[in-house]
Amino acid sequence: MIRDLKGFKDTVRVEDISEEEGMHLVFEDMPGLLSDIDEYRVRSPIVGEVFLCRVNRDVHLRGEVRASIRLICHRCLESYIQKIHTTFSYILVPSLPGIRKIALDTEDMETSTYDGVEIQLGKIFREQILLQIPMRHLCKEDCKGICPGCGANLNREECRCQKESLDSQFSPLKRLLA
Ligand SMILES: [Zn+2]
Ligand SMILES: [Zn+2]
Repeated sequence: MIRDLKGFKDTVRVEDISEEEGMHLVFEDMPGLLSDIDEYRVRSPIVGEVFLCRVNRDVHLRGEVRASIRLICHRCLESYIQKIHTTFSYILVPSLPGIRKIALDTEDMETSTYDGVEIQLGKIFREQILLQIPMRHLCKEDCKGICPGCGANLNREECRCQKESLDSQFSPLKRLLA
């Protein structure tokens, strides 16, 4: 059974995943995924896709997500768009109370746990988006920032500090007081 959903489902019940064919979900938008983070303004639908398959009680998940988020540059304080596009894969292992989990070591897949009943898709998509946003928000690598003296945005304007100090040096008031 392959399902193609337009609306976003935050969780998927493992028993709904077909053992033969797995499950394929496409989301044209995942509203609210980042709405609790005031700093991030989502500028376009968050588009995502996942393939899920059951291997005994484990769930193998492969996915992709795209989004555009408006951020404020930490250096020049102008807003800019951070584009996000990432693919990811997980092996989800049930962690049931009282049952010891055997850690899986795989090279290219991240191993994580689920409660044995539901896969928290929303949480996984959110985590993947957040991983793509650098700690330091920069509109561009070489953003010149703001001059602490005159407040000029040095990406667009010349610093006025030098000029202002020269002007004040030769201002009539200065001369009178000198
Ligand atoms: Zn900047
Ligand atoms: Zn300046």
